[in-house]
Amino acid sequence: MIYAYIENLNGKYKNSSIEIVSYAKNIADAQGDSVIAITFNAEDSPEILYKYGADNVYNIKNEALKNFDPKVYASLISQLIEGNYIIFSHSDESTSIAPFLVKEKEAVYITNVVSQPLSFSPFKVKRNIFSGKGIAVVETSNPFLIITVALNSTGVKENPVSGREINPLITIPDDSPYKVESIEESDSKIDLKEAKIVVSGGRGMKGPENWGIIEDLAQVLNAAEACTKPVSDMGWRPHSEHVGQTGKNIAPKLYIAIGISGAIQHLAGVNGSKTILVINNDPEAPFFKSADYGVVGDLFEVVPKLTEKLKSFINNKKI
Ligand SMILES: Cc1cc2nc3c(=O)[nH]c(=O)nc-3n(C[C@H](O)[C@H](O)[C@H](O)COP(=O)(O)OP(=O)(O)OC[C@H]3O[C@@H](n4cnc5c(N)ncnc54)[C@H](O)[C@@H]3O)c2cc1C
Repeated sequence: MIYAYIENLNGKYKNSSIEIVSYAKNIADAQGDSVIAITFNAEDSPEILYKYGADNVYNIKNEALKNFDPKVYASLISQLIEGNYIIFSHSDESTSIAPFLVKEKEAVYITNVVSQPLSFSPFKVKRNIFSGKGIAVVETSNPFLIITVALNSTGVKENPVSGREINPLITIPDDSPYKVESIEESDSKIDLKEAKIVVSGGRGMKGPENWGIIEDLAQVLNAAEACTKPVSDMGWRPHSEHVGQTGKNIAPKLYIAIGISGAIQHLAGVNGSKTILVINNDPEAPFFKSADYGVVGDLFEVVPKLTEKLKSFINNKKI
């Protein structure tokens, strides 16, 4: 059996979870096996998961599971699995749960995977290393594998099956050492990790009073907002927007970097983006080396003009 852990946000499946089902389905087809999707307190229809190849969906609904607790979640998943592949997203949530399962099942743990399996015996796959600067091919003959797949790295493929929802019998453990003391809600309307477009600002923005420039562009593009570490360290923006080696790892279709120099620690969190546009007044800024498109200019002139042009382009298209 191939298991796919399905993350949801307020009951709605995350886009990354659809990628995980597609990944699991690909392995299932190659192995002549089937896919079981496991999720907690989802409100979305399981039909969405059937469409991408989940033969069975375990949706464990319980008020006691409302607050995320990696140890409890791992314990419940452990009660449900009998197969030898468990596929997770390479996300904060999944990488908090997976290590508990690895320990319990004495599994091999392959993280940050960026390819479909290259072979099955031995199992061989590509994974990101050195903060995305390199790719390693790893192999194992261990029969029990727990895999985390990098965001937007292997794609989504429709593969409809006539699935069914199952309510399995489980025992919720009550001895977790985790206690939720407070919950910080992000004020962003669009989840940064799920966003197709991200508009990001750095120290070149000069101060938080200028952030309206980023917000206006993000609004026109229906994009999420992000920032560099110094920007969040200085309190210009919340830490939930900080991307990079010590912040969130994102892989949108388009990343627009405004007034950001492109330090290696910043690139580590964004170099999975499909297309990168850099706006910077220093032609020597290192970020231009990683950019698909670059504008050398003063962001305070360039960005408002870009926003206006996009606004009129979108309005004209609507007419
Ligand atoms: C262990 C460690 C971990 C780190 N983790 C992270 C991380 O996760 N994420 C992260 O972002 N950083 C991280 N950093 C910090 C990183 O090294 C850089 O210092 C940081 O990314 C720089 O932020 P910045 O680009 O906003 O600022 P700067 O490097 O100061 O760049 C500002 C840019 O704005 C441009 N600019 C200025 N004025 C204008 C204008 N008017 N118009 C257009 N452009 C303009 C400048 O030319 C410059 O390129 C880490 C550092 C360490 C040591």
